[in-house]
Amino acid sequence: MLTITTPAEMRAWARVQHAAGRSIGLVPTMGALHRGHRELIADAARRADAVVVSIFVNPLQFNEPADFDRYPRPIDDDVDVCAAAGVAAVFAPTAATMYPTGFQTRVLPGALGDVMEGPGRPGHFEGVLTVVAKLFGATAADIALFGQKDYQQLRLVTQMASDLDLGVEIVGHPIVRDDDDVAMSSRNVRLDDEQRAAAVCIPRALAAAATTAASAHDADAVVDAARAVLDDEPLAAVEYVTVFEAETLEPVESIEVGQRRPGAVRIAAAVWFGDVRLIDNRDLFDGG
Ligand code: AMP
Repeated sequence: MLTITTPAEMRAWARVQHAAGRSIGLVPTMGALHRGHRELIADAARRADAVVVSIFVNPLQFNEPADFDRYPRPIDDDVDVCAAAGVAAVFAPTAATMYPTGFQTRVLPGALGDVMEGPGRPGHFEGVLTVVAKLFGATAADIALFGQKDYQQLRLVTQMASDLDLGVEIVGHPIVRDDDDVAMSSRNVRLDDEQRAAAVCIPRALAAAATTAASAHDADAVVDAARAVLDDEPLAAVEYVTVFEAETLEPVESIEVGQRRPGAVRIAAAVWFGDVRLIDNRDLFDGG
């Protein structure tokens, strides 16, 4: 397995792959790899000939400097995980090679960036789209895998790839959960034992919402069902809970008959445990 550290070397490697007729599958990550990332890598390996995992804690997408500083960076372990998973190349550039002096171009999100994570994290999605566009450019990926865990990000990246004719197919991978249904996240390691145990309130809240949605049409009732579970957990501080249309991400007020099917309406939540912010979401009508 190769470890590549500059966009120029990355492109050169990608050119060789394409010349040899090999398709390239990209899994963009910020490292601290867990089973969720490993499943994305396995999915990429099924869909492409050569898998590239990028590991880059992108300063442009952190609106809180402290969150950037605290983000875990176990790069040696991550390289081992990638090697064991049969990854062809790890792309681990430095911030200086990604954003050299004089760097000034950004990708602006459209309306998909104005809801949920958008208002509370100014500049976040602009940073995400800019780095993802750069990663697509450097890796010349034919296909790229993103987790539904960051559902809004997945929708924004899909929209960008289409709007900007980037020629890369975007695939969303289902949320990978721990044994207690808490969504896997690199930020989970920053929870203490009590907080980690308390975090189970998130998947429980989303499940309660789905149960309520089976009979209720009013989205407020669905949100209330989730909030009741979250409010019951003293260690949890809710930032938002929202029911939204899966394609447009627009808030849903009344869940219509035609929307009561898998893939149409989702619920998402952002919840703080101390200074750790977790997000999760689910389809309201997938029956799972
Ligand atoms: P991150 O390293 O947290 O930026 O995540 C890299 C990619 O892995 C993103 O596309 C995430 O959505 C995805 N991902 C992270 N955690 C999970 C999870 N528990 N299930 C599915 N995908 C995930």
